Amino acid sequence: MSLNARLQAVRAVREELATLGIDPFGVQIDRIVTPTEGIIHGRRTILAGTNNYLGMTFDRGCIEAASAALENSGTGTTGSRMANGSYAAHRELELELAAFYGKRDGIVFSTGYQANLGMISALAGPGDNVLIDADSHASIYDGCKLSGANIIRFRHNDPADLAKRLRRLGADAAKALIVIEGVYSMLGDRAPLDEFVRVKKEFGAALMVDEAHSMGVLGERGQGLVEEAGVLDDIDYVVGTFSKSLGNTGGFCVGDSEDMEVLRYASRPYVFTASLAPATIAATRQALRTLEGARDLRQRLRENAERLHAGLTALGFTLGAPANAVVAVLVGEKVEALRFWDHLLKNGVYVNVMVPPATPGESSLLRCSVSAAHTPEQIDAICAAFASWPGARPTAHGG
Ligand code: PMP
Repeated sequence: MSLNARLQAVRAVREELATLGIDPFGVQIDRIVTPTEGIIHGRRTILAGTNNYLGMTFDRGCIEAASAALENSGTGTTGSRMANGSYAAHRELELELAAFYGKRDGIVFSTGYQANLGMISALAGPGDNVLIDADSHASIYDGCKLSGANIIRFRHNDPADLAKRLRRLGADAAKALIVIEGVYSMLGDRAPLDEFVRVKKEFGAALMVDEAHSMGVLGERGQGLVEEAGVLDDIDYVVGTFSKSLGNTGGFCVGDSEDMEVLRYASRPYVFTASLAPATIAATRQALRTLEGARDLRQRLRENAERLHAGLTALGFTLGAPANAVVAVLVGEKVEALRFWDHLLKNGVYVNVMVPPATPGESSLLRCSVSAAHTPEQIDAICAAFASWPGARPTAHGG
């Protein structure tokens, strides 16, 4: 059987990795021990590539809420909410998310990926214009494709470039949808939200912000960059995921639109898939309650991020952004990045490796995600593993 061109390209990558004897995309965690430790290849390994920003996966309250839901409501819903009915808890979580953000209503999706797919494809159709940041997550690109709308990419984090492209649309700019992320998943850099809000208001367009990597991490109440930047009221749609700071799976969108109820039914990724399991909903509701008041966890996360950022800077590495929950080390060449990643794993530290074209620009990345659950000793052990790479160049001030 012949493979299509895309599969052939994937096969070529798999074969190249096999030649190197490195398989970063097939890592098996034999046993998960804590939010920050697992057994990989028989070795106790520090997990520094999880997105488990608040360490919520082992939160006692969440586990108890999930266990009770499992006992009371069973393992799964076995169907779509539209065809098979919603459980009351699905709707309660939607209203809790809307209340958390102070928005009119919310919609829960089965993953964060589907939240972007579902919202973009419900809001825009053929003939409409969706303007997206060039470094957008795959789910935003795929949502645009599903919508059939014109996709207009603007330069990463560049509101002036966005304004230029909106101006070219003339009267259509007022009907356009702009999609950006709060914190970008690869480099951990932040969007200049206040400037984007100024542009969207100037043209009358709608603005959607994906807060996947800043919900729970930023802001006094953990609403994310939208809170920290003080722009929440001006954001039309906030999209997020349960798979990071909330420690589960699922996704959501909240907004002030009077059409939220219509949007859900116009969204194929909402309509044509099974709804989230009762245990997932119950644990996520508990996690959301915890997240809002988790100032101490956010503080610990900040301290850990600063410790890792400072440690890696002292080792002479170039980092993607100022200290944040995502700390990305720019490595440059692909094969070096893969060897470096493998070296870290053999030294008991698991991070993510990202190579072009998945990365912004030409650089490969070793992406660390910091958790409030990491101990300072674990952060130091991560730095020590990086220091043992022959390419580390400690500066005079540290290392
Ligand atoms: N948006 C962004 C910015 C992401 O980084 C991710 C996941 N990495 C998603 C959406 C998808 O979220 P989920 O894992 O819940 O599908």
